[in-house]
This record gives sequence, C-alpha cells and structure tokens, in this order.
Amino acid sequence: MTIGVPKETFPNEKRVALIPSSVDRLVKKGAKVLIEAGLGQTINISDDDYVKAGATICDRSSLLNADIILRIRKPPVEEISKLKKGAIHISFLDPFNERALVDELAKNQISAISMEMIPRSTRAQKMDALSSQANLAGYVTVMLAAERLDRIFPMLMTPAGTISPAKVFIIGVGVAGLQAIATAKRLGARVEAFDTRPVVEEQVKSLGAKFIKIDLGETGQTKDGYAKALTPEQLEIQRQGMAKVCSQSDVVITTAQLFGRKAPVVLTKDMVAQMKPGSIIVDMAVESGGNVEGSKLNEEVVVNGVRIIGLGNLPGRTASHASQMYSANLHNLLEEYWDKDQKMFKLNLEDEIIKGCLITHQGSIVNEMVKNLK
Ligand code: NAD
Repeated sequence: MTIGVPKETFPNEKRVALIPSSVDRLVKKGAKVLIEAGLGQTINISDDDYVKAGATICDRSSLLNADIILRIRKPPVEEISKLKKGAIHISFLDPFNERALVDELAKNQISAISMEMIPRSTRAQKMDALSSQANLAGYVTVMLAAERLDRIFPMLMTPAGTISPAKVFIIGVGVAGLQAIATAKRLGARVEAFDTRPVVEEQVKSLGAKFIKIDLGETGQTKDGYAKALTPEQLEIQRQGMAKVCSQSDVVITTAQLFGRKAPVVLTKDMVAQMKPGSIIVDMAVESGGNVEGSKLNEEVVVNGVRIIGLGNLPGRTASHASQMYSANLHNLLEEYWDKDQKMFKLNLEDEIIKGCLITHQGSIVNEMVKNLK
C-alpha cells in the first residue's frame, strides 16, 4: 500500500502532515511512503531524514497516485481529479463549508476522511487532531498577548516597588481555553474564565483560575460535549455579565466555538470601547467568523488603544510541535485500522470512528450530517 504526502499549498503553512518517526513506523508495517521533495523544509527536516526513515522522495504528480494521501489542509480542488480512483484522502476538510469540494471528492470516487469529524470519544482521543492543534493554539494565544502587552504577567515585589499581576480573562474553555488558562497561570497572571457549559467550572478551578458565573438559564452541551448555540437573549445576558470583567482585564482571550457553525460574537464594539487602552484581545475564533466585533483575519487592529489580534493558523506558529502531534494523530488512525496480514489500511464502515469521519466513499457522500446539509 502506498502512502503519499504532498507539500501543503496554503500560504505560509509551515506544518507538515507526516514526520520521519511516523514514516519509520508505517514502513515497518509494510507501507511504501512517498514524500514530496522538500516537504520538511519549513520545520528543518531534510529529504535525507525522510529517506533514513524509509521514505522515497518523489515529485508531486507521482505521489498523487498513491493509495492513501495524507495532508493537513483540504486538497486544492484542481488536484482531486489527479488522485487515484478509490484512493483514501485524509486531512482537515471543513466539510460543512466546502460543499463543492466534497462533491468533487465524491465524483472522483475518493474516500475522504475529515480530521475535524473524528468523534470526541475515549478511543479516538489519540487521533483527535482538532484537540492536538487547539492545545497548541491555546498556548500561542497567551504567548502573543504576553509579547504585545506593555506590562508583565507575574507579580513582582522589588525594592523599586510592587508590580501587581496581569489580569487575564479567557472566554471559552474547551481544549484551547484550558491550555490558555494553564499557560497564563504558569506566567503568573491572575486568570478568570467563562464558558456556557457549566461542567467547565470544576476544570477552571482545578487550574487555579476563577470561574465567572453568569446565570444564562438552560445551556447544556451536545452528546459530543460541544456547546449548544445560545438564544440571542442569552447571548446578551452573557455579554452584560462579562463586560465588567473585560473592562478590568489587561488581556482577553476568546476561544468560543460552535461545532459546524459560525462562532458567536461574545465581545461587541461597546465592550471593547470600555476596555483600558493598552489592553490586548486575542480572537482565536477569527477564522470561523470571529468572537470579537472589529477583529480582522490575519491583522492586528488597534481601537481606542485596545489591540485586537486576529492572526490565523495559530498552531502553525509552533509548526514543529504541531506537525509532531498531527503526524502522531494520523499514524494512530492508520494503525487502528491496519490489517497486519494484508499490510494495509482497511476502512471498516461499521466502526463508530470511521462512521463519524468518513465523508465520501464509492462515489457518494456517506456522512449523514454533511449529506443533510444541502
Ligand atoms: P470548541 O472549540 O468547539 O469550543 C470552544 C469552547 O467554546 C467550548 O468549551 C464551548 O463550550 C465554548 N463556547 C461556545 N459558545 C460560547 C459562548 N457563547 N461563550 C463562551 N464560551 C462558548 O470546543 P473543543 O475545545 O473542541 O471542546 C469541545 C468539547 O469536547 C469539550 O467538552 C471538550 O472537553 C470535549 N473534548 C472531548 C475529547 C474526548 O473525549 N476525546 C477530546 C477533546 C475535547
């Protein structure tokens, strides 16, 4: 079975889908791994390192003919017809917003696995690339804020006076938010956090941060643990409850997401206007619509002295570790369904994880959620 890994085509994407240690493990299982020349350049991995791990270096057009294609980002639509009929394509796909791409994959008989659709189950944790990348993104939000803030995070008691700790407010406490809390705490900040899922309160407290309580009535979560969308009235109550905390914070980090939908606006222009000049907002949801009114993708905007950071691809800023984790997620997925006798990856269509993440197969859209999205 051949596995091909082409270079990413998205501008400034430095992450790579497969690193040499995973190549080595796949080759030992009996796979032939084809790597596009120069794949690892962005994270200082040479073609030689891949060859030592057992890979074959080749040009893009030859490897697109592999049985399995591994990528981080969705494939360029014009490359889909160049893939082998019946090939398995594994990457992030954004299937809710990429209907034309999904149709094209189906039309070309590609079995496409979408990494964001891997279920949030205990068994699937090792393949959960949304989590591995969100974890790093959470870390990066704090690093960016700490660097841009003209104050320090920890408390200092010195002969030159006492410096009080920075106040950091984290909105949305999923995987990224939890890592942001932990990172800000390690730097010595005073951290507060809010999420619409009440179950999060204990997790926030266990990291030594304060949970902001706002009574929104019934909120809850889906069976996969994702937040349910609030009503407009609930969202308004939330904003009012958070406004004062924001106005007293040096840093506000927003990570609120709704699975498969546009991110909720949790910070309005009015709330930003009430914040102290010099304070920093990092809008981690900027790529899915934005949590902050006025944030701009891949830009830093200053409004009345408040800097709103809307940089995209945050895990890509730690490209080496992000690649290491993503590569392990892919390897774990392949290993889970690897037939040792036939030395090949087999799609078990009855398996819960495959049912969750397989989007197209044998010419059709097979994922119910995506199929019903017309
Ligand atoms: P996510 O990226 O979908 O959303 C980030 C956070 O935003 C969530 O905590 C969500 O509750 C919150 N949010 C949504 N609307 C909000 C609003 N208006 N205000 C404030 N916060 C808002 O979340 P995620 O990091 O992907 O995690 C989703 C769930 O999956 C969590 O329950 C997490 O613990 C769970 N999870 C489970 C596993 C597993 O069991 N294998 C792995 C990873 C995550």
